[in-house]
Amino acid sequence: MRRMTILLSTLNARYTHASLGLRYLLANMGPLAAQTSIHEFVIGAKTADLVERILAHQPRIVGFGVYIWNVEETTRIVAMLKRVAPHVTIVLGGPEVSYETGEQEIVKLADYVVTGWGDVTFPKLCGEILNGPKPLMKVHAGVQPPMAEVTLPYALYSDEDIAHRTLYVEASRGCPFKCEFCLSSLDKTAWPFPLDAFLEQMEGLHARGARLFKFVDRTFNLNVKTSLRIMQFFLDKLEANPDDPVYAHFELVPDHLPEALKEFIARFPPGALQFEIGIQSFNPEVQALVSRRQDNAKAADNIRWLCEQSQAHLHVDLIAGLPGEDVASFARGFDQLVKLGAQEIQFGILKRLRGTPIIRHTGPFAMVYDPYPPYTVLATNLIDFATMQRLVRFARYWDLVANSGRFANTTRVLLGEAPFDNFMAFSDWIYSRTDATHRIALEKLAKLVQEWLQLRGMGRLDAAALVASDYAGKLDTPAQAPAVAAPARQARHLAA
Ligand code: SF4
Repeated sequence: MRRMTILLSTLNARYTHASLGLRYLLANMGPLAAQTSIHEFVIGAKTADLVERILAHQPRIVGFGVYIWNVEETTRIVAMLKRVAPHVTIVLGGPEVSYETGEQEIVKLADYVVTGWGDVTFPKLCGEILNGPKPLMKVHAGVQPPMAEVTLPYALYSDEDIAHRTLYVEASRGCPFKCEFCLSSLDKTAWPFPLDAFLEQMEGLHARGARLFKFVDRTFNLNVKTSLRIMQFFLDKLEANPDDPVYAHFELVPDHLPEALKEFIARFPPGALQFEIGIQSFNPEVQALVSRRQDNAKAADNIRWLCEQSQAHLHVDLIAGLPGEDVASFARGFDQLVKLGAQEIQFGILKRLRGTPIIRHTGPFAMVYDPYPPYTVLATNLIDFATMQRLVRFARYWDLVANSGRFANTTRVLLGEAPFDNFMAFSDWIYSRTDATHRIALEKLAKLVQEWLQLRGMGRLDAAALVASDYAGKLDTPAQAPAVAAPARQARHLAA
């Protein structure tokens, strides 16, 4: 085992999620880079095994990327490391420890914390830990350098990363909008990386075999000139070699789709573009409460245009449990989205992310949050706990049946003219029959769907034929939620 002075580590939600944050740190370590390496793990492993693997490198410093999905396990790792190897200096970074820092167990256990951007501050802190003078403060506010001074990390994606993992990339950091449930609302604006240098790195990744690029920019279509150049990059690749497809995933604000952008989008072949579009709520009063600026009519027009005139795959986000939103209001938004035709509707439940301004609504709207990650809302003054639980199950079954794409024909019939109400009735019934929302074998799920259709008045043979038209030949695989490339959007905005 090679000895490493500085170990950069994190627990990813899945193996396929390569950590962009750690690669940024390594790329910006300067003279310390040769003594630094990345060791990523996946949540769910035994704490002692991970501690053993970390210590095998005999590090002097271990830096952990702490996120909403790994904070509990990372806390256990840090606690154990501090017991068995108290001489190792632990430095924390990442969004989960960047806010409400002082009150966290993991922070009490660690030696230092870097809040916010770590590109400059983490290497500087490591230099001081190794060479003195010993840093006096425990918490170090990350310095934000000019974007041109941040070394881009894409060369650090290994060949194995390129072959087997999602490649996260970003042409800009930050967001100018202020949606109060979102950590990006704390950014002052969006800061672009120098575009030529960024595209050069994308060229390098493509030349090495990368074919799926997942942009984590909060609002890809904010600066249309930049969006067009990035799209041109991918169009050039597709047109130069149509038999070698390349895929790009972008997050869009829904009410900003100028004609020039539409013209480009329309030129992409089926599936090459994937768009994630945050609607969150169609209720103007709720939007005002959470400071979300959105032109609903324009947003709906643009989603309709994308569904009808482009060949992009759309994934549209809604959040249940926002202040001021009851079930009927959420249902209206849901039904509107179903009718607009988005291929996937990501139905998320509100989370109170550390540092987000949504906390100001806690008293007035009786918002009750789970005190443990991911801090999901449990009840509001308009949605009681039992109803929230029904919504949570709706979201889970929606993933299994609708978003998975496994029951496309059946879903259309199941939803009928009142998608939310009909699916809620199905969700309540399937839960009463199975007592489970996970590990339902696909064959069993198909039988349940068929039984439900019969209960709703469809003839047995018709119901069987409809379900069979969807799932024939797919019996051997367990029913899964659709493969998402990252944790749900609200949390994923922590990732880079
Ligand atoms: S939800 Fe989207 S638009 Fe709103 S602050 Fe977050 S990233 Fe920006």
